[in-house]
Amino acid sequence: MDSRRRIDLESDPVRGGLAASLETPDRLGFLEAKTIVHRMKTYANVELDAGTKTFASGLLPDLIAALRCSRKGDLVAVISGDPGIGPELEAWCRFTRNSLVDTAIEEGRTRWVLRYGEAPESVGEDRPVGSRLWLYTNFDCNLSCDYCCVRSTPKAPRRALGIERVRRIAIEAAELGVSEIFVTGGEPFLLPNIGEILVVCAAAAPTTVLTNGMLFAGSRLQTLRSLPRERVTLQISLDSPTPERHESHRGKGTWARAWRGIERAREEGFRVRLAATVSTETEAEEFRSFLDAHHVSEENRVIRRIALRGSATQGIALARADLVPEVTITAEGVFWHPVGAEDNDLLVSRDIFPLAESFAAVRRAFDREHEHQRRLATIFNCA
Ligand code: SF4
Repeated sequence: MDSRRRIDLESDPVRGGLAASLETPDRLGFLEAKTIVHRMKTYANVELDAGTKTFASGLLPDLIAALRCSRKGDLVAVISGDPGIGPELEAWCRFTRNSLVDTAIEEGRTRWVLRYGEAPESVGEDRPVGSRLWLYTNFDCNLSCDYCCVRSTPKAPRRALGIERVRRIAIEAAELGVSEIFVTGGEPFLLPNIGEILVVCAAAAPTTVLTNGMLFAGSRLQTLRSLPRERVTLQISLDSPTPERHESHRGKGTWARAWRGIERAREEGFRVRLAATVSTETEAEEFRSFLDAHHVSEENRVIRRIALRGSATQGIALARADLVPEVTITAEGVFWHPVGAEDNDLLVSRDIFPLAESFAAVRRAFDREHEHQRRLATIFNCA
């Protein structure tokens, strides 16, 4: 059922005065997201056409009215022909602890999507920036899951990072003290040289490769066998205890093949971490029981909610302020977090090298994010 609402706007002149106190934020070190080239239109529960209104001329009461008829977690789209609203809207979101999660230009008008309220659960652990490094080795995949955060499919262009860049990244990452490397895609095992890539990464730091586990046969099985067990962990996706839900996202026949991949990787002596992507806490609980029954330890399991990014049409809408940065490198540049590795709002730099400068850019952006929160907090300093 489409629960989207178009609201009858009411005015609230008392709250309107707040607009004057909003400051225009700096860009936090991110590249300006002029156009989100890859994104499909983000679903919103409420569509608010601002017409000619701005924060100085009546938009704020309309916005408050929109939130009043929303529930926490709902998405509200604001559409306007005036792109100048953007910085004020971003500042207002930060001030009110809502999150601006998407910006797109459609036929000359800008559509901002904000999430009402804070992220419903913690989406990142508090690790030092730069301790983890993510590499997107490619974007093509043998599957086309309906929630894939980077829209991978068998037809997606490969956009390979390439062994030469991986070599240099590994050398510089070791110098910078990176403690864990995560190799992901797309499906990394589609690459003919994935063995070489993983060996290079594993020499720099303990490495986890994220895979759907469905390709361990023939020459790819030989590649798997050649990897150093003590330095390489396999993180294999399995979304539910039985095939139905897993296959509703990933396609028919995928559950049994993933399970076989998990068994094979274990038989080959690898540490295997099972990773489930779920829609609700009930699904998460079900999967926990399944893992308990199979004696999968806490450190060998990951259960996360679907993020409203990439191909997903439902899930948790995440803004950069919701995410603790984990430096992520793709062929296109350096990103704030792996969950948005092709989204302009999470792009930090097009330049990967020197890696120290990429790390510094992410840290500077993170510091500015904190500083901005602190400055906003002082506006309502009560004592
Ligand atoms: S979620 Fe993983 S397995 Fe599914 S399409 Fe994306 S990269 Fe491939």
